[in-house]
Amino acid sequence: MTITTDHQATIDSALRVDGVQLIGGEWVTSGTGRTIDVVNPANREVIARVPRSDADDVDLAIKAAEKAFPAWRDLDASSRARLLFRWADLIEEHNAELDSLESQEVGRPSWGPPPMANQIRFIAGQADKVQGVSLPTRSTGSLGLTLREPYGVVGGVIPWNAPGPMFANEVGPAIAAGNTMVMKPAEDAPLTPLALAKLALEAGIPAGVINVVTGYGHEAGAAIPADPRIRRMGFTGSPQTGRAIMESCARNLTPLHLELGGKSPQVVFPDADLDAAIPAMTMGITLNTGQVCAAGSRVVVHRSIHAEVVERLAAQMRKVTVGPWHQQVAMGPLINQKQHERVLSYIEIGKEQGAELVTGGGRPQGEEFGDGFFVEPTLFDKVSPGMRIAQEEIFGPVLSVIPVDDEAEAIEVANGVDYGLVASVWTRDIGTAVRASRALQAGQVGVNTPIGAGTVIGGPFGGYKNSGFGRTMGADSVLDWTQVKTVSMQGAPIPRG
Ligand code: NAP
Ligand code: MG
Repeated sequence: MTITTDHQATIDSALRVDGVQLIGGEWVTSGTGRTIDVVNPANREVIARVPRSDADDVDLAIKAAEKAFPAWRDLDASSRARLLFRWADLIEEHNAELDSLESQEVGRPSWGPPPMANQIRFIAGQADKVQGVSLPTRSTGSLGLTLREPYGVVGGVIPWNAPGPMFANEVGPAIAAGNTMVMKPAEDAPLTPLALAKLALEAGIPAGVINVVTGYGHEAGAAIPADPRIRRMGFTGSPQTGRAIMESCARNLTPLHLELGGKSPQVVFPDADLDAAIPAMTMGITLNTGQVCAAGSRVVVHRSIHAEVVERLAAQMRKVTVGPWHQQVAMGPLINQKQHERVLSYIEIGKEQGAELVTGGGRPQGEEFGDGFFVEPTLFDKVSPGMRIAQEEIFGPVLSVIPVDDEAEAIEVANGVDYGLVASVWTRDIGTAVRASRALQAGQVGVNTPIGAGTVIGGPFGGYKNSGFGRTMGADSVLDWTQVKTVSMQGAPIPRG
């Protein structure tokens, strides 16, 4: 592991909002008068503050969204699409600032141009393609058709690991369909969502269509699904919070989708191209310091190549550079102290349960890492499928290698967890690839690619099993934010004879 340090740099950005949130097109403080510090996870410096809102602020946001809804719903779909395209263009113009803002709050080295402009552009292209169907009728005197209508005011709660893309994923489709939205970003990373909302206003998306209420999950977050005026919800985050949101929605019979993370397997067959697989799998668990729902956290490998895979993975992981976000490193710190303690405790659990620690396993050494939430890229070998590090989502750069004897066992182990978000298979054989693609229980399967659909545009994203339900990112995501109305019209039948 190479170590680089320099905690000094912070980039100023005109898009950085400080102390206020967006309700009804106005930048306002919370009625509570309180704020939350947003900190740089590399050194715990305060970057900005955001309002610590509660249910009263959420109430104001819902009222603003209710007020904005009729005009937004009735705006013709081409005009809605045009506004979203304009938003995408503005996002692209500000790519560098958005990238640095997200890097600062997440503590992540740059990923390159952020994906949000293209996410919104893809969705904008769907806005005027929301269609119903014409239905067969029992009489020549009637017509039947379906309309797809927005729900009204909808809600969203997103996590901190990729705040910009998560915001675009939820807000884009929801408003493209004609809904207005109340969104709560995570307390740890609310700045990029606020910046995106600012650009939406600048693009001409009317006041009140997008409202961003900041605060803690148990205060502002919980108030959104608890309110019966919220007609649909979208949530991404932990299974625990997902359950709480779903319980709240159940009380109001509010439909929702959930994206709850994963324990994604990387199934490596003896004929795999290891020159491609090793760096890709290393990237798949160290990108964003492993804080990616789709992170490939289990390597399920055939025994005949097991030793070689472990040796090469260890060598590759030792090459991953670690440091603060603004340096040319491959991996930054974890997001916060809680996450830091959690990841370190999973490493202890791995050792206690008898897995073999191959590389990493703790905080990187050095004074410069003292204040940050850093952890080493960590590789465990001889992990058995029942161990906790093989079953539970760690959300850190901890990779578990599980050796298997044949294809049937590989698939059984790969599927033998509660999660089912993404799975990868590494093979040169088309037959193996086809069989595995069908057998793996996951919302996305990648063949020779580590994180699901990779370069595919518009691939629906979401989970099997406890990874959640509903799909984002695809063309259908706009339809998911609509409800279907059947209209039957009775006229006079065509006269016979
Ligand atoms: P989390 O609690 O599920 O946070 C996700 C979002 O939900 C945040 O905006 C959070 O707000 C909010 N929230 C928390 N409690 C809430 C409640 N009772 N009602 C409404 N909203 C609520 O996740 P976390 O604690 O930050 O991270 C813990 C673990 O979750 C991670 O280690 C990881 O395994 C998993 N995770 C998964 C994903 C994913 O992409 N699937 C993303 C993040 C985390 P505040 O944070 O502002 O309080
Ligand atoms: Mg949290």
